[in-house]
Amino acid sequence: MRSRIFFKLMFVFLLVIGATAITLQLTVHKVWERTLHEQIERNLRQKTLMFAYRVEADRQHSLADITSQEGQAAGARATVIDPTGKVLADSEADPSTMENHAGRKEFAAALAGQMGVDERGSRSVSVPFLYVAAPVSGGAVRLAYPLPEMEITDRPLAVALFWGSLAAFVFAMAVAAAASQYVGRRLQRIVNFAERVAGGDLTARIASSSTDEIGQVAAALDKTTRGVEESYARVQTSQRELETLLNSMQDAVIAVDVDGRVQWANRGMDRLLLRAPRLNAPLIDSVRDPEFLAAIQQAAREQVVTSARSNTIASGRTFDVTAAPMPGGGAVAVLRDLTETERMEKSRRDFIANVSHELRTPLTSIQGYTETLLDSPLADNHVREFLEIIRKNSARMSRLTEDLLTLARVESGEQRFDIQRVSTEELLQDAWESFREVARSYGVELEMENSVPTVYVNADREAIHQIFSNLIENALKYAASGKKVILGARESEIGVEFYVRDLGPGISSEHLHRLFERFYRVDKARSRESGGTGLGLAIAKHIVLAHGGTIRAESELHHGSSFLFNLTASEANAD
Ligand code: ADP
Repeated sequence: MRSRIFFKLMFVFLLVIGATAITLQLTVHKVWERTLHEQIERNLRQKTLMFAYRVEADRQHSLADITSQEGQAAGARATVIDPTGKVLADSEADPSTMENHAGRKEFAAALAGQMGVDERGSRSVSVPFLYVAAPVSGGAVRLAYPLPEMEITDRPLAVALFWGSLAAFVFAMAVAAAASQYVGRRLQRIVNFAERVAGGDLTARIASSSTDEIGQVAAALDKTTRGVEESYARVQTSQRELETLLNSMQDAVIAVDVDGRVQWANRGMDRLLLRAPRLNAPLIDSVRDPEFLAAIQQAAREQVVTSARSNTIASGRTFDVTAAPMPGGGAVAVLRDLTETERMEKSRRDFIANVSHELRTPLTSIQGYTETLLDSPLADNHVREFLEIIRKNSARMSRLTEDLLTLARVESGEQRFDIQRVSTEELLQDAWESFREVARSYGVELEMENSVPTVYVNADREAIHQIFSNLIENALKYAASGKKVILGARESEIGVEFYVRDLGPGISSEHLHRLFERFYRVDKARSRESGGTGLGLAIAKHIVLAHGGTIRAESELHHGSSFLFNLTASEANAD
């Protein structure tokens, strides 16, 4: 089947060539007609002049004979008139029957002494005539030539012109057909090439040696396809690299689309699940863990990074789930196996707890014997001094083991808290009463301010007392120079914020975010000297966290420090 562009081109060529042939026909015809007309007119003028000359010069023949002979010789109608316009002789009619001719345009000119020419239809015959009149002494002569004669002469020319045009038309159409076919074939090659590329065959190539516009289109398409193939190869390579990377990871990774259908999962994920996730199947078919599903759904829906702890994906194992939204919609989740880390963490805590526990008895014994020896009258001053050092250090070690045990219990979650509804007033009052006197012994005034006395929080009294104890002891140890420590409570976003504020030397900002780490001290020597273990704030932090609260420190050098912790308000407050 010929391409459609072929027929379109052929149709256009047909129109153009047809229009050209017709225009040519009309133009040539017109020019030819005009040339012929001019030639006839020139001939007729000469014949009329000769007729006039003969009328003037021939004295042997009658006027009627001359007129008739000249008419015949010229192949035209000859007429002679006198100056008044009266017809004297005519080659085709009886002059006596003819009307006065002075008014005819060509005669009027001739009677005025000039050649007169006119073209019009004759009254007697319907065809147009060319009239040429010339002056003679005693009147004027005229020849009238019928113009249809000219058309008769013209017809062979028209026929020749028609055949010539037809031949030119046929030839032009043949050339046009060949050109159309050539163009159509070249365009068809481009179409075939484009269809191959559209069908996904990026190895398709189209070679073109021509530099015309079609050649340029082919070259541009070829270059584009080559570029796309290279980019595609690069994308495939980086995708394979990414897949290898993700598959070699210990962590399990899974990606879902906006509808929660699995888009991709690495080998770690396949190994983890009993049934490996199928592509495009709902995630819930292979994973049932509610925390994991909620995290990935939230990440996909709200476009936020979410994290969760999952215990039921694989039995006996705990995972830390981090789900992040993907740019095109959907989310990707990474599952990190925490089982081993948690086991190690637990054995570390158990070890510390066991060591602390084991040290307790010998330390108590050392302390007991040291005190007994100190009480003994046998010891001299020198020995007493040593014994005092032993007592002080064993007391410190004992505090350290106690703090380590407390921290291990709170961290591990072994410590059971007796959470009750308790008023902020009660908690503050309790702490204030316990430490008022101690503070005074340091020369410090312990003040209490409470803007929310009637608000209740959910807390374990003993545990909160322990936090206040650690914070107030610190304030007395490190900030007694401020002479005042303020204990207070105020409303916060989640419930109540308790604080212990001192007016001591303050803590510089680079230490603030590390203060709650175990054994972190701003000034080690000062801490040891004052009997600190470096665990007070760590214990306070873990107790607050176990209550679902938060703790922080605010301070500015030389302007005192504030330690603040938030506890959730009891729902019963709403009553
Ligand atoms: P420590 O047993 O050494 O007091 P903590 O965990 O209770 O351990 O405190 C950690 C460190 O924070 C302390 O060593 C001290 O340098 C600093 N610190 C705590 N409270 C204050 C305070 N009120 N003013 C200045 N420094 C403080």
